[in-house]
Amino acid sequence: MILQTEPLCQSSDSNESWQQALASAVTDPRELFELLSLEPAAMPGALAATDSFPLRVPRSFVARMKKGDWNDPLLQQVLPVARELEVQPGFSDDPLAEQGSNPLPGLIHKYQSRVLLIVSGGCAVNCRYCFRRHFPYNDNNPGRQQWTEVLDYIAADPSINEVILSGGDPLAASDKLLADLVGQLQRIPHLTTLRVHSRLPVVIPQRINEQTLQWLSGGRLQPVLVIHSNHANELDQPVRRSLAAAKEAGVTLLNQSVLLAGVNDSAPALKALSERLFACGVLPYYLHLLDKVAGAAHFLVNEPRARDIMQQLLASAPGYLVPRLVKEQPQQHSKTLIPLNA
Ligand SMILES: *Cc1c(COP(=O)(O)O)cnc(C)c1O
Ligand code: SF4
Repeated sequence: MILQTEPLCQSSDSNESWQQALASAVTDPRELFELLSLEPAAMPGALAATDSFPLRVPRSFVARMKKGDWNDPLLQQVLPVARELEVQPGFSDDPLAEQGSNPLPGLIHKYQSRVLLIVSGGCAVNCRYCFRRHFPYNDNNPGRQQWTEVLDYIAADPSINEVILSGGDPLAASDKLLADLVGQLQRIPHLTTLRVHSRLPVVIPQRINEQTLQWLSGGRLQPVLVIHSNHANELDQPVRRSLAAAKEAGVTLLNQSVLLAGVNDSAPALKALSERLFACGVLPYYLHLLDKVAGAAHFLVNEPRARDIMQQLLASAPGYLVPRLVKEQPQQHSKTLIPLNA
């Protein structure tokens, strides 16, 4: 493995707790523009777009962006823009119709053998393309009583062997809450696997600490962490160190991305991402076609173009660095694989 050399102490950020990093995220577009020396002409659009979906981006993520560059692939993911407000046919508030597979608050049971628990409605970063941008989180923030119902539901269905902690971002919840919940899940005998889907290890890498690894990999459930990275520039040295610690603790590390126009919609960008992931001990898992959520139309890469990019990737990278191209369709029992030679 080729380790890039870099200064030992990049910034004072490295001693900040993850809670501080979360709390001090940039939420005012004016500050983001200032930090990145961006021209103020796009400010009215940015402000208008934050009315329905606020800006939120941790400072260490901003620090990985290039100043003065509108096209920075990290900035593109978080920048509120006027185009979000245009109504586009085919783009809706609940593109996955998940609100119908929600038997209890906090639980989504759509696929056989696994359930998704919405552990936290919050996120460390608000991704403008997010399919959950209109999800009714406030109805899905279970209190203790509701967790009892969720645990009973899982305990009563032996066909479920895997629990996926999701959100929002599950790692926005405290280690104490997560350790409690996982402790209870471990007592359900038919469960074998604990999976966490989170963007936090990428945007605030110090989120992965000893306590986290304790509940994640210290018990009897097989631990899987699916991170969410869309571009190689997100994966800097602090991220690599956190992932190395997780790997050392026996966690299987996977990545899912969304194919996003202006961010990663080329074979070289995806190849660089896969190679950087691999250097961090992570294998690519899924590459999602954009869910058609209102406000995200400007990120759309259509299916023929997506297939074309994937064919180029296949021709230039080893098979294990090629993610599965998928889309999520309402009423299906799995992600839908997109055939590359159709
Ligand atoms: C994506 C998803 C899963 C996990 O699917 P895998 O193919 O196992 O990664 C589970 N439940 C829901 C509702 C999902 O959207
Ligand atoms: S759920 Fe994931 S993609 Fe959506 S805003 Fe949160 S971190 Fe971003």
